[in-house]
Amino acid sequence: MSLIFFPPPIQKINSEIIRCAGVDLYVLRLDLMHPWVNGNKWFKLKYNLLEAKEKNFTTLLTFGGAYSNHIYATAAAGNLFGFRTIGVIRGEERLPLNPTLSFAVQQGMQLVYMNREMYRQRNTPALEEYLQQRFGEVFIIPEGGSNLNGVRGCIEIVGGAIAFDHICVACGTATTLAGIALSLDEGQRAIAFPVLKNGAFLAPEIETLLTNYLASDLPAPSNSPASWELVCDYHFGGYAKVNDELLLFSQQFREEHDIPLDYVYTAKMFYGVMDLLKQGFFGKGDSLLLVHTGGLQGNVGMEERLEIVSKI
Ligand SMILES: *Cc1c(COP(=O)(O)O)cnc(C)c1O
Repeated sequence: MSLIFFPPPIQKINSEIIRCAGVDLYVLRLDLMHPWVNGNKWFKLKYNLLEAKEKNFTTLLTFGGAYSNHIYATAAAGNLFGFRTIGVIRGEERLPLNPTLSFAVQQGMQLVYMNREMYRQRNTPALEEYLQQRFGEVFIIPEGGSNLNGVRGCIEIVGGAIAFDHICVACGTATTLAGIALSLDEGQRAIAFPVLKNGAFLAPEIETLLTNYLASDLPAPSNSPASWELVCDYHFGGYAKVNDELLLFSQQFREEHDIPLDYVYTAKMFYGVMDLLKQGFFGKGDSLLLVHTGGLQGNVGMEERLEIVSKI
């Protein structure tokens, strides 16, 4: 099933800050694997799609906000692999559709809007039953693809790459971090940059995710305890919040390295890493792998919204 995807290239980058810190810095470009189904969202979908196929489901149903990278990727992956798709979107319908949702519809996804109160029940058996009754036999994937199948796919993100000392990743639910941490060897460390405010709340959730994964019958690659760390200072005010400093950073980063970053996730992590390099957070001679988790589709909608704000 992964045949149509490019293996993600690893790109070495350099700059004054990197040289001064004395580290080697590489970027794992998950954003380049496929034009639509890319980033960590593909890895989180992979084993969900395989399970759905194996169990003979023909329809996938999942959840997301109106700008969701996961909705975008699920619509495209469903279309590529021959599933019908239903996207349950948080909040009310807004017309015209934003770029994310109009792409999803073009890929054949049926959109269903759900008020916030009901949406909050999305992981309860009662709501699942309601959805099964309304739509028939559907394979339900949680928001963001964040289940144990999702963790399983994320074990393959770094797997096999040369030994880096630190693997850095932006983090929302930390499903991606959990998979990466499980794939590391002793001496390697995964560093997660939450994009939500007060990201420390994720620590017990990560522990639970790792425990549940290791207790499941899914394959685990290493026996050594996963080593990870949260860096919570680079949320820029919270989810999907940006400021001029972050926008300028992304723009300069793209000009200097020819790597576009998304504003919601990767720009914050790359900014954080550059800032930590200036502070001497990493040892001289260390090697870093920064995981570019994709998400670039969201920039179109974000830039439209920023433009509207700047005109008010
Ligand atoms: C969803 C997403 C993340 C966060 O992944 P989690 O597994 O929820 O931590 C990071 N980067 C991008 C680009 C994403 O779309």
